[in-house]
Amino acid sequence: MKKEEKQLIYTLLKTADAYESGYTRPQFAGEPVFQDDTEVSFPGVTGESRQSSDVEMPGSSPSMTENASATMTQSLTLDELNAKILRCTRCGLARTRNNVVPGMGVEHPDVLVIGEGPGHDEDMQGLPFVGKAGVLLDRMLAAIGLDRKTNCYIANIVKCRPPENRNPMPDEQSACFSFLEAQIHLLKPKMILCMGKIAIEKITGQNISINAQHGEFFEYNGIPVMPTYHPSALLRNEELKRPAWEDLKLFKKRLDEIKNN
Ligand code: URA
Repeated sequence: MKKEEKQLIYTLLKTADAYESGYTRPQFAGEPVFQDDTEVSFPGVTGESRQSSDVEMPGSSPSMTENASATMTQSLTLDELNAKILRCTRCGLARTRNNVVPGMGVEHPDVLVIGEGPGHDEDMQGLPFVGKAGVLLDRMLAAIGLDRKTNCYIANIVKCRPPENRNPMPDEQSACFSFLEAQIHLLKPKMILCMGKIAIEKITGQNISINAQHGEFFEYNGIPVMPTYHPSALLRNEELKRPAWEDLKLFKKRLDEIKNN
């Protein structure tokens, strides 16, 4: 195959991916460089046999996320993206949900808060964190001057309720993740607050112990990210409220520094 044909197929696949996910992935340092196929003849092998050197990856090939560059393009508005999320049938959660929960908040928030996935109340209302845990989350945010109506956006790793409030499965998280990536790209939050283990592990791609690592800073595409306890955990165990409060104070301090620079 000619390199031009390969490039065309690659471009078509990228366009389809952008259409499906509502998000044009950033260019990355390891973009493939295509070559014409070269015929190689082996003794005793005739006809169709062919060796191809299809794709040459210059340098190492780290993930696209790690290599997000300034050449990002975005094809959808936030409303268009969320409309797309509302129609999603990428995983089995689409069959059991009552409503999709894309997220809510302001368009260019100081802080993006990321939870795990909708629960019963969220599934019924189509809004994130509106049950008991949501009431506590709003109080935690208010304590450091944050509010979904003025300076926050609230989203989840998965946008549809996992039945019986089980954790979202890895394949469900993966199916949904490009939506969150696109949301982050559009929202451009100054900081990200991850509520609980599922959110921070998916955002960082690392195994994280919330007990040991709550309140630490991580990064997502240059954006400071902190994990803290999920409000549901605080509702189950009052003793976690103190350490969560310490996390929030650190988070607020860093946010103020960013805003004052
Ligand atoms: N728990 C979450 O993680 N997200 C919600 O939206 C509600 C409860």
